[in-house]
Amino acid sequence: MAGTKYAYVKKFELADVLLPGTFMVLRLDGHGFHRFSQDHDFAKPNDERALQLMDRAASDVMAEFKDIVLAFGESDEYSFLFKKSSTLYNRRHAKILTTVTSLFTSSYVMHWSEYFPSTRLSSLPSFDGRIIIYPSTREVRDYFSWRQADTHINNLYNTTFWALVQQGGQTTAQAHETLRGTVSKTKHEILFSQFGVNYNDVAERYRKGSVLVREPLTMEDEEDERKKQKPKLYSTITMHHCDIIEDRFWTARPHLLE
Ligand code: ATP
Ligand code: ATP
Ligand code: MG
Ligand code: MG
Ligand code: MG
Ligand code: MG
Ligand code: MG
Repeated sequence: MAGTKYAYVKKFELADVLLPGTFMVLRLDGHGFHRFSQDHDFAKPNDERALQLMDRAASDVMAEFKDIVLAFGESDEYSFLFKKSSTLYNRRHAKILTTVTSLFTSSYVMHWSEYFPSTRLSSLPSFDGRIIIYPSTREVRDYFSWRQADTHINNLYNTTFWALVQQGGQTTAQAHETLRGTVSKTKHEILFSQFGVNYNDVAERYRKGSVLVREPLTMEDEEDERKKQKPKLYSTITMHHCDIIEDRFWTARPHLLE
C-alpha cells in the first residue's frame, strides 16, 4: 500500500505503453496444438467443432472488448484488430495482452463441452499471445492478407495430405514425400484426378478462415426497445467466411480502418 517503506518497489514496474494512434493487432496461437488435437481426436484435416469453439472464444473476447473491430481465425490462432483510437487500459501492453489471452483461454475451456460433448478435456489448453502495432492501413491490410493466404496454403496442403492418407492409403511419411516440393496446381490436380475433389468446393470456412466483424447498428436496430434501455450497445458481431484480401470486404466497411 502507498506510504509504507516497501512501496518503492512499485517504481521498478516500467511503463509499457503502446504507441498512441496506431493499429494494435493481437494474435493468439494455441500452444502445442498439434499434440492437443491428437489427444482430443480432432478430425483431420479440419475439425469443425474445434474451429467453432475458437470462433466462440473470439466472439466472447469481442463482446468484452468493444475496441476490437475485427477478428480473423484459422486453425489454432486468432488475430484481433483494435481501432487505432483505442485507449483500452491506457494502451498498457502487458495488461491488454494478458487480459485478452486469459479471457480467450477461459472461454475456450468453459465452452469445451458444448462443442465436444463426448470428449473429455484431458489436458490444459493454453495460448501464446503477442501484440504488433502497425502505423497505417496498408500494413493492417497486408497483415490480414498474410494470415488468409496462410490459411489457404495450409488448407490446400492439409486437404491433399489427408486425402492421400485417409483415401489413398499412404502412410503420413509417404504423403509428406508425395507432396514435397509440389506447387499448388499439382495439389489441385492430385485432389481432382485421384479423389474427385474440386478444391473450390471445399467449405469456405476451411479455405478462408473465420472473419468476425463488429458492425455498427442501423437506425432500425436502435429503435429496438432493448437497445433503448442499454444505450451503450451500438454494435453487433457478425461472422463471415469470405475473402479479406481483395478490396471489396474493406470498402464495404470503411469504419474498420478509421
Ligand atoms: P506451437 O505451440 O508452436 O504453436 P502447435 O503444435 O500449436 O505449436 P501450430 O503451427 O500452431 O503448431 O499448428 C497448430 C496445429 O494444430 C495444426 O497443425 C493442426 O495439427 C492442429 N489443429 C488446430 N486446429 C485444428 C482443427 N480445427 N482441426 C484439426 N487440427 C487442428
Ligand atoms: P483490476 O482489474 O484493476 O485488477 P480488480 O477489481 O481486480 O481490478 P484488485 O486491486 O486486483 O482490483 O483487487 C481485487 C479485488 O478482488 C479485491 O479488492 C477484492 O474485492 C476481490 N477479491 C479477490 N480475491 C478475493 C478473495 N479471496 N476474497 C474476497 N474478495 C476477493
Ligand atoms: Mg489484485
Ligand atoms: Mg506458434
Ligand atoms: Mg499453435
Ligand atoms: Mg497455429
Ligand atoms: Mg485485479
